[in-house]
Amino acid sequence: MVDLKGQYDAIQAQVNASVISTIESTKFINGPQVKEFQEHLENYLGVKHVIPCANGTDALQIALMGLGLKKGDEIITADFTFAATVEVISLLGLTPVLVDIDIKTYNIDVSAVKKAITPKTKAIIPVHLFGQAAMMSEIIKIAEKNDLYIIEDNAQSIGANYTFPDGSKKKTGSLGHLGTTSFFPSKNLGAYGDGGAIFTDDDRLANTLRGMVNHGMYVRYHHDVVGVNSRLDSIQAAILDIKLSYLDYYNECRKAAAIKYTQRLANNSKIITPFTIGECDSHVYHQYTLRIINADRDALVQYLNKKGIPCGVYYPIPLHLQKAYMSDRYKETDFMVTNQVVNEVISLPMHTELTDDQIDLITDEILTFLA
Ligand SMILES: *Cc1c(COP(=O)(O)O)cnc(C)c1O
Repeated sequence: MVDLKGQYDAIQAQVNASVISTIESTKFINGPQVKEFQEHLENYLGVKHVIPCANGTDALQIALMGLGLKKGDEIITADFTFAATVEVISLLGLTPVLVDIDIKTYNIDVSAVKKAITPKTKAIIPVHLFGQAAMMSEIIKIAEKNDLYIIEDNAQSIGANYTFPDGSKKKTGSLGHLGTTSFFPSKNLGAYGDGGAIFTDDDRLANTLRGMVNHGMYVRYHHDVVGVNSRLDSIQAAILDIKLSYLDYYNECRKAAAIKYTQRLANNSKIITPFTIGECDSHVYHQYTLRIINADRDALVQYLNKKGIPCGVYYPIPLHLQKAYMSDRYKETDFMVTNQVVNEVISLPMHTELTDDQIDLITDEILTFLA
């Protein structure tokens, strides 16, 4: 699905030199590399504050912790996302409220968000799924009207631009009160291990969060709030700082591969290729995900696997049907779209090193199977 070795080979000398110099400095924790990467990412995203942490799940958890919510407060998020998004809500004793998605973009359905709001609702977590921005201008309007926080789960979309109706653009992750991301190796900006970060323009929230990631300490050995230990280590920061300078190029490579896939697959009545809202720069193709209709998706997965072509089903089970997240508040008719797409989606290999020949081979096999 990804080619981390090929990507590393292209920047090997630069990465190796930086890793070795970090090791020789022995500043493994909170070294200058972390601050440098933080500042470069702040500039790249156009946000005032980046708070690095240990992984994308921690980033979501700590972002929620920073809002000072109470047990039972409700947080609305999408039924169709990686489980981490809902997991942290439950872990903190908050109540997740899952809602359906838009059939075209697979992102949270704005009308479903509106319907799910109650007096207990405190925040919305839109997930920019598969690399494409959620409908942020409408989500921002809903949040303003109902006095809700927005935390963007930007784990899959770092580098994407969101275009507002007036034509102005901002990076995803910089649109809500808080944004979070993951530097898991296969993400668009991947480390060589775990990493994550929280983004905000709010000085007060940023200060709260910087203490929370460090045991709730604002002054050494004074613990003002209950915090956690969640750090990005210096070696990962050094690697990420190099890779950040290639992020736009990497995302362009992904987009070029997506365009080629779509050219090969668009005119088939059994395939729905990814939908891109407006300008293509709203999508950075973390995944290239098709819907297979009037054909057996699972049989296609087996066929491709037998041919040695990797593929994935993200995600096979809606969150509202997962044992950990079932709730009496839901009816199956609330989730018409997720219940449908879990049976239709298939994600193809997508990375920065895909060649035209590979795309030809993969698409030929898909078309042969569906013929
Ligand atoms: C990867 C991912 C996360 C979690 O990131 P980790 O770094 O693996 O903890 C959270 N949300 C989404 C949507 C993700 O894709």
